[in-house]
This record gives sequence, structure tokens and C-alpha cells, in this order.
Amino acid sequence: MNKSVDTIAAQATPAGRGAIGIVRISGPAAKTLLDQVFAPCSAQWTGFKPWVLHRGRFLDDKGAAIDDVLAVSMPAPKTYTGEDMAEIQCHGNPLILSTILARLFALGARPAGAGEFSKRAFLHGRMDLTQAEAVCEIVQAQSIEALNDTVHRLDGLLSRQIADLRASLDTLRTHIVLAVDFPDEEYECLDRTQFAKQLAAIQSRLSTLLEGKERSRYFQAGARVFLLGRVNAGKSSLLNALLGRDRALVSSIAGTTRDFLEEPCLVAGLPLVLLDTAGLRETNDPLEQLGIERALSQAATADLHLVLLDGSVWTREQLECAICPDPFYADLFARFASIPTIVVWNKADLVAPHHFPPAWWHGAAVSISTETGEGLERLGRLIRTTLLGADTTFLGQEFVGVNERQASVLHRAHHELALLQEDVCAGIPYDLCAVRLELCAAILGEVIGFSSSTDVLNALFGRFCIGK
Ligand code: GDP
Repeated sequence: MNKSVDTIAAQATPAGRGAIGIVRISGPAAKTLLDQVFAPCSAQWTGFKPWVLHRGRFLDDKGAAIDDVLAVSMPAPKTYTGEDMAEIQCHGNPLILSTILARLFALGARPAGAGEFSKRAFLHGRMDLTQAEAVCEIVQAQSIEALNDTVHRLDGLLSRQIADLRASLDTLRTHIVLAVDFPDEEYECLDRTQFAKQLAAIQSRLSTLLEGKERSRYFQAGARVFLLGRVNAGKSSLLNALLGRDRALVSSIAGTTRDFLEEPCLVAGLPLVLLDTAGLRETNDPLEQLGIERALSQAATADLHLVLLDGSVWTREQLECAICPDPFYADLFARFASIPTIVVWNKADLVAPHHFPPAWWHGAAVSISTETGEGLERLGRLIRTTLLGADTTFLGQEFVGVNERQASVLHRAHHELALLQEDVCAGIPYDLCAVRLELCAAILGEVIGFSSSTDVLNALFGRFCIGK
């Protein structure tokens, strides 16, 4: 294990002014540094007691007080990084913080790199890679569910599931190695059908974990929801209503939203990235046409479409048609048939709601008024169920959040298992199958950080903030 010998320091609180600023120190010199810069307030001072917050003055190189601070010394090994650590809480003035850091650097500490505290925690075995990633994600979480999930992962939920899977693979490997080594003994009894069956069970557990990836993307980064519809259907008004503020320009002059608006928001507890596209219509204006084409190509990448219709302009005859009578919308539905869609009949305040939804739309439909707010809650619930299915809780029994890196490792393991199943069915000798089983277990180990290369670790921790 790569034990660090130098001592690092960084501001742990965000840049800018605030009530409190925190400087973190980790490494063998943490306590010595603290002793050099701290003048206690207490007359009965006998030195830093571990894990006790002491009040005092932070001193500059001439012994002048810079700030009234609280400081704590935390001896290794049961600290965040596994090393000796110290923290100084000062007033949240950038000038104080930079002076404190400059003083610590002058005394021999080194500025911490991005994620270096967490990287040290990982290298000292204080947490595995899934837990380190959860530390990073907990700072980014945009919904209560995402927070709950990251806390579970911080607690080792994903690590335990991976350990279980690896244990199942090991058990299988032991079975077949014994069958190879002692062909005449009872171990031979694991026949190929049973072997393939057990592999399929492990694969299905991997698939469930991979399903968690889409859900965690929704809960962490937000599902991408496109507002589509004819000009003046009310897309900008709906965007503003969902955001709870005026972001998009609302106007009855057709074609006012020429470009793209992309806004994060929370709807029914689910973080979404709402995209208001250029109003779609036939146009000779090249600028508007450009906006429309961009909208259509972006819309193809959405997680969900909200197709808006101005309910006030549809006649009863049109609504009773067996197929969509408006070629514009018919084309939209056909073009994006594979993308989950909710048809939103807007301007319900102008029309009696029993007019819609019409029979020609087979997906979910809802009537709303952005003017009165009617139907917006129902729309929120519908968005949630359309994206998440029947189990709209993120942390149902089955799901645990999985990030991009973890998912790509799980995909590789899944692929290896599929090849192994083919081998087993094709009668490939068990000793060769054992090699692939070992490979699968090794790949799964990468999720928690076994045998991760320096490059992988640097890339991963490089995404963290300084001070984390
Ligand atoms: P967009 O072109 O699809 O973005 O449509 P806008 O949001 O700009 O709305 C077009 C016009 O319809 C504006 O004059 C809005 O005030 C009006 N509008 C939007 N939603 C409603 C609604 O629910 N009821 C009524 N009565 N008018 C609405």
C-alpha cells in the first residue's frame, strides 16, 4: 500500500464568504503544524486532547493573531484519511482562509490535490472505491432519494452486494476445480445444466444492479425531459410553471423560443433537466428552421417527452377521430415512437376537460392549465411513474445506485458471464471455465477498487473537489 509521507492541507468549505471556513490537514505533521500556529485561549492549557475542539488564536509568522478559531487534532488511524489529521474552523473570510493556508504551506504542508483526502482514505483502507465515490456523489446529490442512496453506498451496500456476487463465483469455482482435481469423487455432481443455471442466477443479479444505473442517473443528474409541441401550445409557460419562476419568454407571437432552454428542477421529488425546444412549425426563417432541426435531433436523446397540445383549438370531431388528425403531431408520435411520452393537453381553463384525452393516443395523457396550475400535480406524478415504472421509490428492495464507472465494470463482468455460459453449454473443459470464473471475480473486484490502476484512481479522484 502506497503510504503517503507528506502532509497536505486544503480549504474544505466552498470558496467565498460565509459564517465559517474550515481548513483540513492530513499527514504525519498535522499535529506539529497545529501546535505551531495555534495559541490557546484557556489558561489551563495542557496541549491538544485528541478529538476535542479547542478555542484559540491562529498566529501568523510574527506571532500576530489572524483569527479566533476552533481547532481539533485527530490522531491516526481512525480518521477520515487513516492518517493524523487536524481541522481549523475559522471565520468564512477568503482572506483569513488564504492566510491560514499560506502559513501552513510555509511550515511545510503541501496543497492537497482534488480528492486527495479521499484518495488517501482509500489507499489506507478506510473505504473502498464505491464508498469513496459515494463521498463525491453525496456532495452532488440533487434529491432526497439520491442522498439516501449515497448514504447506503457510503455504508458499503454496493460493496456488500459485489462481495456476495464474488463469493457466489468463488463457490462455483471451488466446485468445478474439485470436480477437475478429484474426478472420481462426489464433486463431479455439479453438472453442466446446474452450472449454467447458477451462472444465469448471478447474471440476473448483475442485471438488477445495472438497472439501478438508469435510476441513479435520474436521481443524481436528473432525467432529460423535452417539451415538444406546436408553437403557442404553452411549452414556455409549462417550463416556467414547473420551475416556479419565469425563465422562458412567454409570448403569443409564434416562434418566440428560437433556441434551447435547459433548466434543472425538482418535480414530484425527482430531479429533471427540462428542455424547452424551439417551437416546431413550418417556417421559411432559416434561424428558426435551425432551431427546429436542433430541437428534433436533441429530442431523440431524451428520457421522456412531454408533447404539448393547445386543447382550446381542437374541435370535438377532431378529438373523436380514430387516428391523430393533425399531421404535425402524428409525425411527432411516429418519429419518436420509442421514447416514453406523455401527452399534455394544455389550456384546460379554456376548454371543458372531458374533451380529452382522445382515443387515438395510447400512452399517458393529462390535461393541465399553466394559467391556473390545474393538473400540474397530476402531471408531476405521471412523470415520476412513467420514468420509474410501478416501483417509483428509488430505494426499493432491489435497487442500489450505480454510477457510470461501476456500470461499465458490471457490463464487462456481465459479458464475461455470458461467454462463460456459452463455454459451459459448448462442453468446454471445466479447468478452462474456472479461469473465466476467476476473471469474472477479478473484474467485479474493480468495482470496489481491487487492483485498480494508478490511472484509474487518478482519474476518479481527480473529479472530486479540492478538500474532499
Ligand atoms: P410556446 O410557444 O409553446 O412556448 O407557448 P407559450 O408558453 O409562449 O404560450 C403561448 C401563449 O399561450 C401565451 O400567450 C400564453 O400566455 C398562453 N398560454 C399558455 N398556457 C396557457 C393556459 O394554460 N391557459 C391559457 N388560457 N393560456 C395559456
